[in-house]
Amino acid sequence: MSDKKRIETICVQGGYTPKNGEPRQVPIYQSTTFKYDTSEDMGKLFDLEASGYFYTRLQNPTNDYVAKKLAELEGGTAAMLTSSGQAANFFAVFNLANCGDHVVASSSIYGGTFNLFAVTMRKMGIDFTFVSPDATEEELDAAFRPNTKALFGETIANPVCSVLDIETYARVAHRHGVPLIVDNTFATPVNCRPIEWGADIVTHSTTKYIDGHGSSVGGAIIDGGKFDWMKYKDKFKGLTEPDDSYHGIVYAEKFGKEGAFITKATAQLMRDFGSIQSPQHAYYINLGLESLHVRMKRHCENGQKVAEFLNNHEKIEWVRYCGLKTDKYYELGQKYLPNGSCGVLSFAVKGGRADAEKFMKNLKVAAIETHVADARTCCLHPANATHRQLTDEQLAQAGISPTLIRYSCGIENADDLIEDLKQALDTI
Ligand SMILES: *Cc1c(COP(=O)(O)O)cnc(C)c1O
Repeated sequence: MSDKKRIETICVQGGYTPKNGEPRQVPIYQSTTFKYDTSEDMGKLFDLEASGYFYTRLQNPTNDYVAKKLAELEGGTAAMLTSSGQAANFFAVFNLANCGDHVVASSSIYGGTFNLFAVTMRKMGIDFTFVSPDATEEELDAAFRPNTKALFGETIANPVCSVLDIETYARVAHRHGVPLIVDNTFATPVNCRPIEWGADIVTHSTTKYIDGHGSSVGGAIIDGGKFDWMKYKDKFKGLTEPDDSYHGIVYAEKFGKEGAFITKATAQLMRDFGSIQSPQHAYYINLGLESLHVRMKRHCENGQKVAEFLNNHEKIEWVRYCGLKTDKYYELGQKYLPNGSCGVLSFAVKGGRADAEKFMKNLKVAAIETHVADARTCCLHPANATHRQLTDEQLAQAGISPTLIRYSCGIENADDLIEDLKQALDTI
């Protein structure tokens, strides 16, 4: 019997292995602090000379069990939980890029991440170049500069549902001596493991499918442990030169390729920014992970059935779902997501903004929410919610049609979702 377990088994049992007589379920260490017999014992922890717990802002056993499960699922060597997906993406990039540096990112990314990069991190002096997710290698190459520190993309982009060509992105990143960071929120490690395709760092908004029940906001970062920081010593000085705030530790020397990235992100960024996930939330996320593989299967089945129904409906202008043979991303989907992509699709109803509004209002099973990737089906009309202040012309500039609807299939019965869509379409 091999030591390496399959994804389904890791979802259920990964990360935490109780010893004789210990709790079967991951215990919640609801404690801010940990007790030591001598100051010397504690000093060793502060110097990163010994591993152990002293203060939950830095590390907590519950969080570590769950992070370990995520590392196993993604095929990484180390992981950390954060308070949100936003914090995960911020930490992943800021752990590499400082004021004066530059990052290349796909333009097809979650709106919150786009804003974090294009507005807030720019204010911190980090410049971003956005490239099309479909850019050729030459176009990607042209975006790089000597001070570029990372390439960033999403496996399946929220909300446009494009599929990233991870191998191409990884090849270009490595040619320029930088790691590829992939936000794998929509695909989850059940459907795609970007590290296997060459990505170096994976991030998650665990708020979505991993929690899966709309209970807790959270995020995670997983390091594939393959990027050789020492090979690009001058480029990643934060990892390859002594950290004065930690007694001159050189992360890449002391923790190697496998541990340097996450140790630095914990020791510096979590210490200073404090965006921790609470142990209680880590526990909820672990409950979500225990059924992730079962739920993803149903999300994808429902996604496929709903996409096919909408694609054949006369009142629907277009549907974007990579499981449809007619979809622009069908082939990339077959390559990177052979077992299914996710339950999220986008489509446009024929007519104008008012028709979309009326259709949404008449949905009874699907609820109007800003959330996605949840056990309960939900949907959003950006022109009437997140992008409400924009005129039709401005919407077009942002690449959003006034009748675009983001629809996130839950794990209900697909026939009920289809009947619901049908009766709402009948009203317009
Ligand atoms: C929701 C989302 C985020 C942000 O995560 P929060 O947990 O809401 O902070 C980041 N990336 C993607 C792809 C998302 O869908």
